[in-house]
Amino acid sequence: MIARLVAKLPLSPRTILGPGDDCAILAPSPAPTLVTIDSMVEGIHFNLNWGTPEQLGARSLTVNLSDIAAMGGKPAACVINLAIRPGLTMPFFDRLYSGLRRTARESSVDVVGGNVTAASQLAITIALLGDSPARPLRRDAARVGDEIFVTGTVGDAAAGWRILAGKLRARGPARRHLLSRYLVPRARIDAGRRLATLRPAPAAIDISDGLLQDLGHILERSRVGAEIDPESIPTSKAYNELMGSDLSLALGGGEDYELLFCARPGHSERRLSRLLGIPVRRIGRIVRGRGIRLKGGAMPGIAGWDQLRSGN
Ligand SMILES: [Mg+2]
Repeated sequence: MIARLVAKLPLSPRTILGPGDDCAILAPSPAPTLVTIDSMVEGIHFNLNWGTPEQLGARSLTVNLSDIAAMGGKPAACVINLAIRPGLTMPFFDRLYSGLRRTARESSVDVVGGNVTAASQLAITIALLGDSPARPLRRDAARVGDEIFVTGTVGDAAAGWRILAGKLRARGPARRHLLSRYLVPRARIDAGRRLATLRPAPAAIDISDGLLQDLGHILERSRVGAEIDPESIPTSKAYNELMGSDLSLALGGGEDYELLFCARPGHSERRLSRLLGIPVRRIGRIVRGRGIRLKGGAMPGIAGWDQLRSGN
């Protein structure tokens, strides 16, 4: 089964020995190595009725790619552990791997090995290696006075998840947009690599748990606080159509895989958007102290943000 799944996977010259032996062999890279791992577990991170096996395969790799993007790195090679439960057929895994293979090819990742094990739930665990930039984007680099930016729009994936779970209703293009943001997320690899060319290197994180929660990780590691202006949070037309002025999913919903970063003052949104190749919005600033203050005080719907997140 392993042989069948890893056949046809493209390998770069850096892979000296690919799948099939006890270990893979990679040529050393001149750059320091980034290492990350993530699991997707059926019933916790995904539901097989919600998307195609191809989308699931792609998404399993994308969540790891996003962590490499959040360091400003270049993804290189991965190993995959597949925990298989009874009731799933070989054609299902062929399709899962075809989605995974496509994402690997698009992001120049070598799948250099894998393992298959029996389990009571389907789970896909991927360990991904990447090349670090000269100045990696660390969570502990935020300083008082930094401005906080976010790429793209936030809240779409959480809205998509709620549509699939039957908790929200949407139709037409808005529905399609929100579902695809959840089912087919994109990792901001190019944007991360360009962000790492700034000096000093910004503090950065990818938004997997939710904007407030992930910002909280930066604040904790950097021992600073933040002030956020809710009015400046970037949301999509589809999100606005569905949620109106309710920002609970934009602030608390995860899995958008956008980048949140803190840069020294003086960078305009326009210049950063041009540098990163995607829209960038300034949403607040780093201040002394701890925790996050929302400008304008509490907002309706915000109080429940961590419950919303843990719902997925
Ligand atoms: Mg992350």
